[in-house]
Amino acid sequence: MSDSKTPVFQCPEHQQAFAKSYAHANSACELITEYGTPPLPNTFALMYAYAAQSDESVVIAVNEMLERGSFSQYEIDQVYNMHLGGSDDAEKREGIGREVEQQLSSVLDLVGTGVENSDQFELALKQIQQAVSNSDSTAPVSAAITRLLSENQRMSEQSHHLIEGLQESKRQIERLQKELETVRNESLRDPLTKIYNRRAFDMRLSAEIDSASKQQSELCLAIADLDHFKRVNDTFGHRVGDEILKIFASVITSNIKGQDLVARYGGEEFAIILPATNLTAATQLIDRIRVQMSERRLVLKGTKTPIGDITASFGLARFSPGTSSADLIEQADKKLYLAKSNGRNRVESGLLDSHAA
Ligand code: GH3
Ligand code: MG
Ligand code: MG
Repeated sequence: MSDSKTPVFQCPEHQQAFAKSYAHANSACELITEYGTPPLPNTFALMYAYAAQSDESVVIAVNEMLERGSFSQYEIDQVYNMHLGGSDDAEKREGIGREVEQQLSSVLDLVGTGVENSDQFELALKQIQQAVSNSDSTAPVSAAITRLLSENQRMSEQSHHLIEGLQESKRQIERLQKELETVRNESLRDPLTKIYNRRAFDMRLSAEIDSASKQQSELCLAIADLDHFKRVNDTFGHRVGDEILKIFASVITSNIKGQDLVARYGGEEFAIILPATNLTAATQLIDRIRVQMSERRLVLKGTKTPIGDITASFGLARFSPGTSSADLIEQADKKLYLAKSNGRNRVESGLLDSHAA
């Protein structure tokens, strides 16, 4: 008998696979240590997949994060859900799909019963007609009327039952449609701020680029990033940081309208798509958001301790024909970088450089 420490995989092939897995797990742990991210299951799974290089899209996404040098748990979860996660939404959608199938099959059963009943009714009518026409007395007529009445009664009860069944199915299908709509909506929203998430942003930006190209219309993209947000978290805690993210999202939301879209682009980064808006109007709008955020006098709940000025920097780019989504994001990102290096609490659009007085 083998003792409990004997390797389970004795054959060379298994041992080789085992050794590889250990190497990937070690690399994942090294990355987690190097970048100082909490060793949560999603982070480990992502870094393991990265080390194993089994999925090219994971390698690209993680490389992007590593190149930036720092990344939040939010970003890790986003990448994990996008590339590795058996997402909850997909499971919910599948569950709803199964229920819809059940409802449809019960509707088909009900319709089938209805057809069968009307066939039986037709047969009964034929039998009665034969009985009446083959006879010269009135007795069969009276028996026929009695049978007709009872057949009619049976049909009426069954069609009542059929209608009730169909109405119930209709109610269930409507409920499922609503649930599906909710799940679909949730899969496009950021759970913390309730604004759109990166996935919704990516879809919408490429649609707006298509439309701006076809209609030769204006389109601007802004990327916003809260200033010194790490310091805010370090001083007041993560939960206060989360509240500030919600406030910033609401300041942006209250300033945009119609076709405009704001999405949580990363941890403390937000993207604002402004269709049919030229660079001058976009710069004014984004600067208004900047000013409003910087003028908020935020205090801690309870103690009312002032949190101090919370500001954000913004990079703004204008779409020009032939520009791809990635190009436009890169342009806005470069401007954002400029806004940071020029002192923060600024909008850089290449048009007007604004900053707090
Ligand atoms: P900069 O002005 O250069 O942007 O400095 P910064 O401190 O904002 O930038 P840095 O990239 O160093 O830090 C971003 C911080 O944002 C670190 C991270 O903990 C925080 N953050 C990211 N996502 C969340 C979140 O969901 N909630 C909270 N509370 N903080 C977050
Ligand atoms: Mg940032
Ligand atoms: Mg920041």
